[in-house]
Amino acid sequence: MVFRPRAVAVVGASRRPGAIGRQVVANILEGGFTGPVYPVNAHAEVVLSMPTYPSVLAIPGPVDLAVLCVPPEQVLSVAEECGEKGVGGLVVITAGFKEIGGVGVEREARLVAIAERFGMRIIGPNCMGIVNMEPEVSLNASFAATRTPPGHVAMVSQSGALGEAILADAADAGLGVAMFASIGNRADIGAADLLEYWEHVDRVRIVLLYAESLGDPEKFVTVARRVSRTKPILAVKSGRSAAGAAAAGSHTGSIAGADVAVDTLFQQCGVLRVESFRDMFSLAATLLHQPLPRGDRIAVVTNAGGPGILATDALDGEGLRMATFAKRTTARLARDLPPEASLRNPVDLIASADAERYRKALRAIAADEHVDGLLVLFVSPIMIDAQAVAEAIRDHAPKDKPVLACLMGRQKGREAIAVLEDAGIPVFRYPEDAARIMRLLVRRRALLDSEPGPVPRFKVQRARAAALLEAAPAGWLTGSAAEAVLGAYGIPFPRGRLVRAPKDAVEAAHEIGFPVVIKAEAPGLLHKSEHRAVATRLQNGDEVFAAARDLVTRLARRMPGMMLHVQEMAGGHREVLLGMTRDPRYGPLFVAGIGGTHVEVLRDVAVRIAPLDAAAPFEMFASLKGSVLLGEFRGDPPADVAAAADALLRLQQLVADFPRIAEVEVNPFILDAPGGRSLAVDARLRLEGEP
Ligand code: ADP
Ligand code: MG
Repeated sequence: MVFRPRAVAVVGASRRPGAIGRQVVANILEGGFTGPVYPVNAHAEVVLSMPTYPSVLAIPGPVDLAVLCVPPEQVLSVAEECGEKGVGGLVVITAGFKEIGGVGVEREARLVAIAERFGMRIIGPNCMGIVNMEPEVSLNASFAATRTPPGHVAMVSQSGALGEAILADAADAGLGVAMFASIGNRADIGAADLLEYWEHVDRVRIVLLYAESLGDPEKFVTVARRVSRTKPILAVKSGRSAAGAAAAGSHTGSIAGADVAVDTLFQQCGVLRVESFRDMFSLAATLLHQPLPRGDRIAVVTNAGGPGILATDALDGEGLRMATFAKRTTARLARDLPPEASLRNPVDLIASADAERYRKALRAIAADEHVDGLLVLFVSPIMIDAQAVAEAIRDHAPKDKPVLACLMGRQKGREAIAVLEDAGIPVFRYPEDAARIMRLLVRRRALLDSEPGPVPRFKVQRARAAALLEAAPAGWLTGSAAEAVLGAYGIPFPRGRLVRAPKDAVEAAHEIGFPVVIKAEAPGLLHKSEHRAVATRLQNGDEVFAAARDLVTRLARRMPGMMLHVQEMAGGHREVLLGMTRDPRYGPLFVAGIGGTHVEVLRDVAVRIAPLDAAAPFEMFASLKGSVLLGEFRGDPPADVAAAADALLRLQQLVADFPRIAEVEVNPFILDAPGGRSLAVDARLRLEGEP
């Protein structure tokens, strides 16, 4: 009803040049809409040479879609009339709703109520309209000034103004549009609804998304996860720099900000997030015409050394690998290329390379099983026919591997660019741009290859955790209470005892066994090291006594109720962090990172949204900058990442079982070698809401 109406009414159609109501009517006419359009205006009799109707109800035939450009005060009564008329969809361009707060919020709620009562769907309010370029519809019900050629891209933009810019840029990039919607305040239809609709529109092959926030994240994830398997979804999400700056009691809280949430959410449901509109359009064009690579081994062919090195660096910077050729390939290249050429990847055909030389090199490399994708560079020298080279690239590019071209020194290469682009080979100006797009192709392949597994469940002492949490008020639990709750779910802690007096600490230490650690524990004491409240490596009774007395004399007066926590000293050699923070919109975000007392400086963490499958924690640790530290490193044995993974999955089960848990941080979880004794030595846990 919204995208394929049989008849459209424009309410608030205007005669005034420059008025939105006039532009919409003009666009519908100019777009060649295949059904009737009815301008509605109570004050003017003619708009753009068409007779008007005083109200929607006065229109003789049926109306499927009404575009509302009336002042905000009139929207509700017009919507009411549309309902009575039997209209199926409203595109509410008018602003002055939720986005202005106060009366606007109420107005929007009433609009939604009216639409629900009559079973109408709403796009907007506060939007730019919709476009459907299907030839059997050909509807431009927007006030966009841009004409886009028809094609296979569907676009959704939250912002109206940017929607216009996106349409214009897409047209410039030569991307044809199938459908477009600017959804404004999303009172009813949001990005997820559009994805669901486009999933079944054959003409739509790629979806481009520009969103400032996601309306219904849960629905979005479910739908996007499914749709992205068959149609790539590309997103530019604004607000990257908006840090979740809320005062946080744990590192986890300050690290896992809202932007990270959207990032991981996109990642987990297969949406490719790009940094710029430029990349979005390049990637869309590439995905439409080029196959996906099977892996990340890329070959570079060039006629100049410098750009070859640039390309190699850029690919490496994107985490892609330079392909190592099969012997046969190198032999073929050696036979066909001049002695000065470089036969190894990047293959340098040198400046005298003509179409024939490109042809031979491409054929050899395209056939190599060790190559997943090609980046072909050409710097046009004066004596070489650029167009002939382009034709050679076109004719000998493999069909089953992506080929990206990079033409430097463009002025002379216009025809060459046209040859390649017409053949669906994207042409970039700089190797970095091509490398970024290649990385996204590899990423899409990886997304398609990954099937999420089931969420692991463990046998835990749920009743014990429930008993511990039952009476607890909102706020941070003490360290030992947090430990008890996590312990009930099988997260391993060292032996320990809480005592008050230094002499009792000595006795506890003898029971636990040396070496031990002593920490102060007091309500509200969250970052113990900052108060020098942690003493490690205590080897005997005397050291324990001295350390305990030092803590008591320095801190006890300032921290009423202070206790001494005597703990077994963990023997592991690597510290990691495990955490969870509950995002109000996206639910639990899990964090895994390099741990210890420097986490905020290092900020080396991976974040994911629930649910985590059994492989997820391993992927998170593998993605850390410091992941090498967790393997065998400088004579140290590898760390037992599996122990940390197990703990994170148990944590997931705990926070799923107890929604009052708002934030958890285990830092550090000290990893021993596999088979050793890996232990969580410090935990904090915050509750929200009433018991
Ligand atoms: P906080 O994070 O509140 O400052 P922690 O309990 O995490 O205090 O202790 C700080 C550091 O002391 C840890 O990062 C770890 O290096 C070390 N540490 C603490 N407890 C132990 C323990 N039981 N075994 C070994 N090292 C420990
Ligand atoms: Mg700590």
